[in-house]
Parts: sequence; structure tokens; C-alpha cells
Amino acid sequence: MIVGIDLGTTNSLVAVWRDEAPQLVPNVLGSVLTPSVVGLDDQGQVLVGQAARERLQTHPQLTAALFKRHMGSAQEIALGKRKFRPEELSALVLRSLKEDVERAFGEPVEEAVISVPAYFSDAQRKATRIAGELAGLKVEKLVNEPTAAALAYGVHQKDKETSFLVFDLGGGTFDVSILELFEGVMEVRASAGDNFLGGEDFDTALIQHFVSSQRQDKHFPDVNVPGMRNRLRCEAERVRHALGQQPTATFSLAQGGRQWELAISQDDLQHVSASLLERLRGPVERALRDARIRVADLNEVLLVGGTTRMPLIRKLATTLFGRFPAMHINPDEVVALGAAVQAALKQRAAALEEVVLTDVCPYTLGIETVEQFGRVLESGHYLPIIERNCVVPVSRVKTIQTLHDNQTHVLVKVFQGESRLVKDNIALGELSIPVPARPAGEVELDVRFTYDNNGILEAEVKVPASGEMHHLVIENNPGVLAPQEVRQRLAALAQLKVHPRDQMVNTTLVARLERLYQEHLGEVREMLGNMAGSFQQALASQDVECIAQMRESIAHRLDELERSPWQ
Ligand code: AMP
Repeated sequence: MIVGIDLGTTNSLVAVWRDEAPQLVPNVLGSVLTPSVVGLDDQGQVLVGQAARERLQTHPQLTAALFKRHMGSAQEIALGKRKFRPEELSALVLRSLKEDVERAFGEPVEEAVISVPAYFSDAQRKATRIAGELAGLKVEKLVNEPTAAALAYGVHQKDKETSFLVFDLGGGTFDVSILELFEGVMEVRASAGDNFLGGEDFDTALIQHFVSSQRQDKHFPDVNVPGMRNRLRCEAERVRHALGQQPTATFSLAQGGRQWELAISQDDLQHVSASLLERLRGPVERALRDARIRVADLNEVLLVGGTTRMPLIRKLATTLFGRFPAMHINPDEVVALGAAVQAALKQRAAALEEVVLTDVCPYTLGIETVEQFGRVLESGHYLPIIERNCVVPVSRVKTIQTLHDNQTHVLVKVFQGESRLVKDNIALGELSIPVPARPAGEVELDVRFTYDNNGILEAEVKVPASGEMHHLVIENNPGVLAPQEVRQRLAALAQLKVHPRDQMVNTTLVARLERLYQEHLGEVREMLGNMAGSFQQALASQDVECIAQMRESIAHRLDELERSPWQ
């Protein structure tokens, strides 16, 4: 059997073709969304999905998320004492999805069509195929995520030439793609985006609004402790989702017998998100410009990604494109459904051909810099020089200055990645540049990065004051595993013990109780502790019925707690 898989940054989904339609397959917890999170439990067994996600906060050293961002790089991610490549962690997610389908249909799954972002480079695509191989899946075909969305909407069944735009706003990223279907071939004409723009940013804006409304209250709790930040984030997301169904929602926070509340209307949300809504325009305009197409010439606009459920976003898209975008398929599910359509077409040897757009620089490349906050200088910041997704070859220059009086050298450290701080990015190399001793800020250095079609980065630093020029060439393709290494990794993965599937529901509940225990204080914490204790006792009794009953009742109370705090 061939399945279609959306291997997402936050969540992954699997779908099959049944009764002439694509159909999503739920996981062991009954959900079609499996968080793309992998961890090790206390016995060193692999946990995938919701249970691992619950443990992200309580066991950060044993849990990994967002590894899709590192696909195609040699970055290793530590889980306890073991290090994993991003394709190995992806393989564990894929293996879990494969098993869900095998359990549901009682048939082996041998092959998968996996979706990837349109801007994925050759190395990132290869890493995705290897992840499939490590999961025991043949991956002959990858499908671009926007193409998959188009397939789910049946765009490929139109017989005339079609141009359309896919507006994909997820939890943390925004991607715009313009595609053209011509004589049965789908071509990505342009792709643009923002790696730091998604639903979470709207949550941050709501949190800031709530916190600043309570500023006068001296009893208001410290919002910088980790548990509190998570609670505010969950509450902001709940409010944001609720505003899709009703005109107002209440943001509330309870602690130590006190309660803080703020009513939020659609207009308030619009107001606090104004700058984010504005930022959505840039990539849309860039993609249209790059594809040399006018809005009026687009045949369709498709909305993809959970955040496009927000009425604000739909309104913005309607205004931007002068028409109602297509959104009748659930935006979280559309890519997986489309991947299953591609899988079915492949089975009939009729798969849609794609022209793949890989001539982009897949990562942001930059250098370490120092930022000034008031009078404080803080090192370790990232100064992007070539932004992710630029069409290659590309050359960009940024000018930096000396920091101290009479300094004689400047160390230029080169990094790859998307994080604000260099410690979270990948170090590629460094150059020590001699400079003439002058007062701070008087000597300038022009740092030029050139990235060519072969993925080679050349860093060139010019010091106009001395007329000197320095070079560093970085061959940036350690991201693809050689066949020999794939075999080794496959053998290593086979040794890993996986957390027993039939205990997954209970493990997820225990992990959720632990997380909530950490997040709360006082009576609520005590109550959570009691629940955890009783549930452990029930588990020890091995009485299946008693366990199931208690699980239901605890899950129900936790749902209530997360929906509206008790105190
Ligand atoms: P994705 O990355 O496509 O899975 O999207 C995840 C994002 O979609 C998260 O930020 C969610 O808060 C957001 N999302 C999911 N459902 C809704 C909803 N009903 N209303 C608003 N945002 C939603």
C-alpha cells in the first residue's frame, strides 16, 4: 500500500486512498494530527507524538521538536546521551505513522509519497527521502506542499492552463507559492515566505496586550517563569481559536486565589495584530513579482495551514486577492490529503509531474554580532546576510564596525540558521581580520557572502581603511548521509526500543499530568498530584476497566482545567 504523508514542522499526518477519495488515518490516540515531537522515556524507549510533546517542557533534555528546520544539515540533536540526525528523528515520526496505517488496515505499508516545502533544496529533499528509507518506506516521489494542496482541491483535473497561489500560514511559518499547471505539469513559479511568522506570533501579541492591561496591579504574577509563559501561551491560543466562533472571548489567568480577566473582541485582536497582518503582505507581493503575474490573472487562491482559520486572515486574504479564497477543505489536513491523491495517481502510474524549484538558498546565512540594549552590549546575536529562500546565485553585503578602541582584530564568525541567537544556529567557519587600531566604531568591514548553484558559500571581508581583503570558502553540503552511513543509522535505529503502543494513551495522560503539575501551584497543584498518584495506583493494579474509567474522568477534568482555570 502507498500512503501520503505530510511531514510537518509541528504536526504530521498520514492519509490513504480509499473508496475513490483520500482519507486521513488517526493515530493510537484517535487524532489525525501527530505532533512531530520525539523523545525518550525514563527507560530510554522512544516516544513519538503527543506524549513526547507533553514532555517537551518537563523533560527538555530528552525531547526534540522542530527538527524539520534542520533537515539537509549535519546538525545533530541530543536526546539524553544519544545524538540523532534530523532525518533519524523524522524517521521515527514516519515509522509511527506507518504503524498507525498498518494497524488500521491490517496491510503492510511499503511506500510513501511525502510532502516537502516548495523551497526545499536538493539536500533537504534527499534528507527527506533518507528519513523515509530509515523508517522502512520506499520514497520514490516527494510532492511539493502547495502542489499537494492543489491536488486535494482537484486543480489538476482542470484541462486548461491554471495559475494559482497557495497561502500557507502555520504555527510558526508563512509560505506563499505561485504555481502553474500547464499540459499536465505543475511548476512552482515562485515561492516566498517568512520563517518567523505564524499563529504563535498572534498569541504573543495577545499575551502582550493582556499583560500590559494588568500592569497597574501589583499582585499580577511574574510572567517570566517558564510554567507561566506556557500557561499564557495556551490561554492566548484558546482565546484566538474562540474568536473564530464568537465575537468576544475572555483572556483569564488565575493564581493564588486571584483571577485576572480581559474581554477581547475581534476588533481588539485586529488592533493588536496590525503589524503582523501588515507583514503578511510582503511575501505575497514578492512572490507575485517574482512569478511576474498579476493578482487578476490568478485562477485560484488556496488557504493552507491552521492559522488561516482565523477570520482576520480570511478577511485579509479576501482583500489582498479581491476574491474569496478556496478554504472548504480543512487547512491542517489539505496537504496530507493531497499527498494521498498523489500516491493514488502514482499507483495508477499517472502521478502529476512537477518542475521543482530548488535553485534557492535554503537557509539564512549570517554572522555573529553584538547588539546594544540601552548601555548594555550583548554578544551572540545573529546578523543575517543572505536570507533563506533567495534565488541563487546570490551575493549580499553588510557593513559592520569595530566595537572597542584600538582593537587590532575582528573575528568574523559565519553561521547558518534561522534563530535570533547564534548559539541556536550552525557554525560554519570563522575569519580573523586584522584592522588598523583606531577609536571604536571608526573602522568599517564590508562582509560579502556569495552563495552559488553548487551550495558553496564564499565569505569575503574587505577593510576599506587598510585596503585588505580576506576570503573564506565553505563547502556546505555535509547534510546528506552517504549510503554506508544510512546503513549504519538504520542498524542503530533498529536497536532502539519503542515505547509500547498499547500503553501510549496512559503514558500521554501521565505526561500531561506532570506538565500541568509543573505549571500550577497551591491547591490546583495538590489536586493534580493526587490525581497522578491515584492514576499510578490504577496502572499498578493492571485492571484494564478501572484504568480506562479513571483515564476518562481525569482527562475530562484536565480538559476543563485547560479550558478555564479552576481557582
Ligand atoms: P499548522 O502548522 O498548519 O499545523 O498550524 C498550526 C497553527 O494553527 C497553530 O498556531 C494553531 O493555533 C492554529 N490553529 C489551529 N486551529 C485554529 C483555529 N480554529 N483558529 C485559529 N488558529 C488555529
